Amino acid sequence: RAKDKGRNTYAIYDSVIEHKAQARLKLVNQLHEAQEQGRFEMFYQPRYDAQGHMVGAEALMRWQQQDGDYLKPKTFIELLEDTGLIVSVSWQLFRHACEQFKSLMERHKNISLSFNVSARLLEHPEFLSRLKYILDEYKFPYDRLELELTEQTLIQDVTNSQFILNQLTAWGINVSIDDFGTGYSSLSYLKNFPVHALKIDKSFIRDMNEDKDDLELIKTMILMGQNLNITTVAEGVENPAQLQQLVAMGCDQFQGYLFSHPISFTQLETQIESLFDIDFSKFKSDQ
Ligand code: C2E
Ligand code: MG
Ligand code: MG
Ligand code: MG
Repeated sequence: RAKDKGRNTYAIYDSVIEHKAQARLKLVNQLHEAQEQGRFEMFYQPRYDAQGHMVGAEALMRWQQQDGDYLKPKTFIELLEDTGLIVSVSWQLFRHACEQFKSLMERHKNISLSFNVSARLLEHPEFLSRLKYILDEYKFPYDRLELELTEQTLIQDVTNSQFILNQLTAWGINVSIDDFGTGYSSLSYLKNFPVHALKIDKSFIRDMNEDKDDLELIKTMILMGQNLNITTVAEGVENPAQLQQLVAMGCDQFQGYLFSHPISFTQLETQIESLFDIDFSKFKSDQ
């Protein structure tokens, strides 16, 4: 009897694993299909300076479902990376973003485009040549592109990262460290990598008004940026109190739901025209 029971347990366990594997396979097939059908799209989240001017936008991937809804990358980005599909999807989306931003940037001289680069893409042997090829195809000004890389991505292959970052910098392309402060890596890499901006991770911003430690860490990151001549950007700014503090501490740029959620390109074009100035004085009197 006990033996039977044991066998049943294994059977259930097996079927759970099998079910998971099948679900994964189904999702992989859907991702391939989505890539072929061009169902991945870019949304854009604007970034602002301390005067309230939009200085650029970050391209964020979305996957449009059959019902029209857009799926955020959380649920599928890991699988895109594991399967290596991230490479072809990234180039597809990068080309699309360049095309969209080309004319927008001609009309708005202070706007730049930020694009997230995953480890799989960075380590791809044709990364630099493909990037340059697309930029030249659209005559996209190099100095108005920013590539966002995480510490984890950079330290996976330090020699390769250094080589690539040096070339990007020689071309005038900006590099920023995304999710800064969460990477558990040595800060000394900042000395060796040419870095243009630090994007302070949103987990620090979220609790900064309640958690003194987070506030102190943010202060330190901003000071470090100032001393190393690196722009500091706060991500995940959701309320006026956070913004006010960040401005007071000398943070250079801001991104978050307070300003705008990630929006479609058409919405971005409107937002650039209508919401150019943020009334910081209004925020101050709210406090
Ligand atoms: P990330 O690059 O750090 O992007 C910021 C994420 O924070 C975005 O999530 C954005 O929607 C969200 N966010 C923005 N403002 C706020 C806020 O005020 N509060 C909160 N709670 N969240 C905010 P999203 O779009 O779901 O993207 C998640 C991550 O997926 C990105 O993190 C990035 O690492 C990755 N990702 C997105 N698009 C791409 C892409 O095209 N290529 C690659 N390689 N990775 C991408
Ligand atoms: Mg990013
Ligand atoms: Mg980030
Ligand atoms: Mg993040």
